Amino acid sequence: MTDSPPTFSYAQLNWDEQGQPISSVFGDVYFSKTDGLGETEYVFLHHNQLAQRWQALSENESFVIGETGFGTGLNFLCAWNTWLQTAPASGQLHFVSVERYPLSLESLEKSLELWPQLKPLSDQLIHQYPKCLVEGVHRLEFANVSLTLIIGDAVSGFKELQASFHPDYSGGFAGSSMDAWFLDGFAPSKNPQMWSQDLFEIIARLSKPQTTFATFTSAGLVRRGLAAVGFSVVKEKGYGNKREMIRGVFDPALIEASEPELVKSEFLEQTAEPRKPIVVRCQETPWQVTGETPEKYQCHRWQEKTVAVIGGGLAGCISAYALSQRGFDVQIFESQDDIAQAASGNPQGVVYARMSPETGSLPNFNLQALQAAERFYVPFWSDYPSIGKRCGVLQLAFNDKQQALQDQISARFGHQDLFSTLDSTAASELAGVSLNHGGLYFPDCGWVHPRNLCRTLLAQKDIPVQASCTVTKIKFEHGLWTLFDDRKTPLGQFSHVVVANAKDALALKQSQHLPLRSVRGQVSFVPSTAMSSQLNMVVCSEGYLAPADASGHHCLGATFNPKSEDLTVFEHDHLANFAHIDQFSHELGQDLAPKAISDIRGRAAIRCTTPDYLPIVGPLPIPKRFDERFDRLRKNARQHIPCAGSYYPGLYTSVGYGSRALAYLPLATQLLVAHMNHEPNPIGFELARALHPARFLIRDIARNKR
Ligand code: SAM
Repeated sequence: MTDSPPTFSYAQLNWDEQGQPISSVFGDVYFSKTDGLGETEYVFLHHNQLAQRWQALSENESFVIGETGFGTGLNFLCAWNTWLQTAPASGQLHFVSVERYPLSLESLEKSLELWPQLKPLSDQLIHQYPKCLVEGVHRLEFANVSLTLIIGDAVSGFKELQASFHPDYSGGFAGSSMDAWFLDGFAPSKNPQMWSQDLFEIIARLSKPQTTFATFTSAGLVRRGLAAVGFSVVKEKGYGNKREMIRGVFDPALIEASEPELVKSEFLEQTAEPRKPIVVRCQETPWQVTGETPEKYQCHRWQEKTVAVIGGGLAGCISAYALSQRGFDVQIFESQDDIAQAASGNPQGVVYARMSPETGSLPNFNLQALQAAERFYVPFWSDYPSIGKRCGVLQLAFNDKQQALQDQISARFGHQDLFSTLDSTAASELAGVSLNHGGLYFPDCGWVHPRNLCRTLLAQKDIPVQASCTVTKIKFEHGLWTLFDDRKTPLGQFSHVVVANAKDALALKQSQHLPLRSVRGQVSFVPSTAMSSQLNMVVCSEGYLAPADASGHHCLGATFNPKSEDLTVFEHDHLANFAHIDQFSHELGQDLAPKAISDIRGRAAIRCTTPDYLPIVGPLPIPKRFDERFDRLRKNARQHIPCAGSYYPGLYTSVGYGSRALAYLPLATQLLVAHMNHEPNPIGFELARALHPARFLIRDIARNKR
């Protein structure tokens, strides 16, 4: 989170005789004691007129609901249920909810047992509910419905959405504007801290003309607060025996800008007295990720939603799949003769991310990415055995330093459901082989066959691949991007392009400024033995060993050789890989030791990484415009520059995954899609900035290195 709000804490609940949850801290109910479902439908769905509005949506249209107080998820489930009955099948519902006191998974399950009629949906929610309830943004994807659950205080939580950012034409807001608000939260008399003027201001900031709200309360402070930021406020009969509730519509006529450079940040209070500006501040950051359209690009035909994905590796295929799920018409261009050949060409890759007791962009991203990856792969693992196996991953505490680190990680996250801490006896029992050490065991991780995964994703969405086709140039003309191959032959025109070809991105003029680096990695293939075939989870130390695949081999790896681009398979690298087996298990080390090193087969590949080890995901900046716009950073790197940078319209990138592509891509791709499809920020302001393609330009300008 970017501000410094109080951190979240778990909901403290009592349960009444009907099994309904009651907050013991606030002394208030989560929903009507007599009919929670009826109340949700009446207050929030009916008074935002959702069924009628959703019936009137066109194909592929989306709708965004913002909620204060996710609680048990009942409002979300009811909205989802009505969406399924009323909206076009191709539409997308985004439900964005903040929650400062999240329910534990156990309490959520118990609460949702009250609604058997919602079970098909609540089971899916329970299945995806974050295992590690850390502060920040959690994105849960269901078919045609996405839940952006923000753990934290309502005000700071909604500020997290501000990194949405449609760089080309929206002025940075389209993706996060709500169409309707569910203003829940305990009664203002019991929870006055939440119903603050800051909350009403951020709600207005995230609203647009015709955005509606509904709330169960008609308290004066809520009526006045909402009216002050530009909502009309209408009283209605309350639900059941409640006297009143309120609803209303955001009306931009009630808003006037008072300072030109903060146009959308300034709202005027609607009173009979002289108008006083209510200032809703932008996040205090030295630079903004929002953008504007240079004149040359103003004709961009962004509504067309045709995408060329350059690169048919894991990044390209996962991007293509996710974009296709959002109704984009996608085509992949791959220079090799098939997909997933280069760094994505190993037979086994591990879904693994490094945990840390620290906070900061890299550890936070790893933690969120790992959970998003589990949610993404688990259904594929269960439906497509050729993709790999959810066999669990054990991160060994293979020396004192690692043990001390894991102790800290366990102290921070051990009470959550993401992993369990095993000693060497328990680890050996679970792994099926004798292990030298214990470690952290992640039951929902496993290994993936990258090429089979890519094939399955593309087949599911019928995505065409133009193989043996090297894109050497892209040119913006007549509102679209034209791609050219190495013989200057045009390959087609697209409204959007995703540059997802790792280090080859440097061959394109528009992405050549990205600081991409090579890291060579070699894996060794080991025939399984009677003992090693008992191994039933991935074991990681400095290297990893996966259970045998369908061909009867283990994949063992990988070496880490920065800057090298040599694809020769070296014997000394095999030896380095085999040395790791001894870290795992003396017995396995002896058992798998090769008779002759020359017998070992393996594979070397070049992975593409970045100076800060975070991938690069988002719109591609125009460096010349950044140099001009952010020139003042050379004098003071921390100053806030209210003007925006400039980006190529419709041009995005997703590169720099190093050896963590499998773990990082599901979350990073949600961010990519949010940038491209004007969706709520799925990852939060800080992380979106930490992954942003403009970050290196800004750093270099601020350090006077450009
Ligand atoms: N919408 C919920 C449902 O469908 O179950 C019920 C919401 S319950 C009445 C109110 C919720 O607001 C609680 O879950 C509470 O923890 C949350 N809440 C209270 N104060 C908050 C704050 N300052 N920021 C975010 N959430 C808050």
